[in-house]
Amino acid sequence: MSEHRTTVAGVAVDTRHWIGGQRVASPRTFTDASPIDGAPVGEISRGTATEARAAVAAAKAVFPGWAATPRAERARLLHAVADGVEKRTEELANVETVDNGALLRSHRRGVMPRVAHNFRFFADWLLTLEHEDFATRGHTNHVTWDPAGPCVLITPWNAPLMLATWKVAPALAAGNTVVLKPAEWSPLTASLLADIAAEAGLPAGVLNVVQGYGSEVGDALTSHPDVRRISFTGSVPTAQHIAASAAANLTPLSLELGGKSPLLVFADADLDLAVDLAVEQYDNAGQVCLAATRLLVEEAVAEEFTRRFVAKASRLRQGDPREESTDIGPTIHPRQVAKIDGFVRRALAAGARAVIGGHPGEGQYYAPTLLTDVRQDSEIVQEEVFGPVLTLQTFTSEDEAVHLANDTRFGLAATLATGDPERAERVTARLVAGTVWVNCFFVRDLKAPFGGSRHSGIGREGGTWSFDFYCDLKNTVTAPKGWKDHG
Ligand code: NAP
Ligand code: MG
Repeated sequence: MSEHRTTVAGVAVDTRHWIGGQRVASPRTFTDASPIDGAPVGEISRGTATEARAAVAAAKAVFPGWAATPRAERARLLHAVADGVEKRTEELANVETVDNGALLRSHRRGVMPRVAHNFRFFADWLLTLEHEDFATRGHTNHVTWDPAGPCVLITPWNAPLMLATWKVAPALAAGNTVVLKPAEWSPLTASLLADIAAEAGLPAGVLNVVQGYGSEVGDALTSHPDVRRISFTGSVPTAQHIAASAAANLTPLSLELGGKSPLLVFADADLDLAVDLAVEQYDNAGQVCLAATRLLVEEAVAEEFTRRFVAKASRLRQGDPREESTDIGPTIHPRQVAKIDGFVRRALAAGARAVIGGHPGEGQYYAPTLLTDVRQDSEIVQEEVFGPVLTLQTFTSEDEAVHLANDTRFGLAATLATGDPERAERVTARLVAGTVWVNCFFVRDLKAPFGGSRHSGIGREGGTWSFDFYCDLKNTVTAPKGWKDHG
């Protein structure tokens, strides 16, 4: 490990920024650690306003050339990036697991293939992007998606490369240039992405990566007048800060934020399926924005549901995320463990009962927890914990279920388990959520709109919605030949 590079799981990672096609070091570094054992894995260049400005300048300088690059050529280059990701899947998966502690098997089989797919999907979608021309009194309306300019993309640590590329790919496809700021707790795969993009032939300056604390590089990026779009995934307080900073230039924002999503289990549900869906919420040690952390179960089946849930959850294996047999890995950071435990302790002090867990384990491994006897207006029901902590409440009517489901400030997702399609339709229509899953969870097509309502976010990305956000839409009205009437 040196100031400029490190080797993680046998993979060489440059720990400097990537600006204008060059590796750039900052005078200071910060230490990146692995949640698996807390060991340091890299000294990372700690960006400030200086590097933020340099990256935006680089992105601005090459924007006209990239924007003018024919769509087919942009798509070809994005496919070449996807090829590079596929070639390095094993390396990316291993580095990501050491850096953020999520399961190696899911990085290998789910996440990294999805990263490649992000590039392929938006490259292909770009080529299909068109709006049918329409006529107004003989004039033709022609709608185009024009590139907007340099985009600042800011991402969290819980699914680093997947969430970064879900923004990078459409932003680049749209003809924009990018400054990506990964989270300080898991910056390594963003640096590998810079290498991959360069190897794929992406012109210098089209993709830039700046590392550092949000509080130090953040404002310089989000308040920069040359930035034309900001897409942010992270927490509500940071989003509020970024929105205020972007306000000076009225920079359009896409915000994908937290959640406190419900899983509604009706008595007519396939109970084993409902239990599977509930236990799945411990995936990634609960560090999933979409997690249905509030189990709302119809009174009539609550006892049986709980019995089966406990039986299944107690078979989960928690431990080293590199082991194939592990189901739940560690929590990202000691600070996050303390935060989770604070939520749980306060809930227990307020009268909640831990059916399972309710305490930290060894190191950064928090015990999967289910709390009952919780009040709807309590902190543990209203606030996002972002750890392996679920609550269980019961209801006796559909009305009550909908009321409980909607009664938080969030609106990211909701999951229903029911055997009655008409009930599913009725309930879905009344839920406030960007995504509703009926008898399933986490099925996400890149064609679909994705985002949250209320404090879970602003805007939708996915398919054409991504291009709507990353582009300046233009309508060109052309008069028919020989047209004289100016009315
Ligand atoms: P966070 O603390 O808000 O950080 C997210 C990113 O913002 C990090 O890169 C962070 O940098 C940066 N940041 C912090 N302060 C900033 C500032 N003043 N200006 C610009 N950037 C700044 O969120 P997190 O704890 O990493 O992530 C967890 C949250 O993300 C949860 O609420 C989760 O629900 C949400 N999330 C939402 C989605 C979704 O799609 N809706 C997906 C995943 C996660 P540093 O951390 O490096 O300082
Ligand atoms: Mg790390």
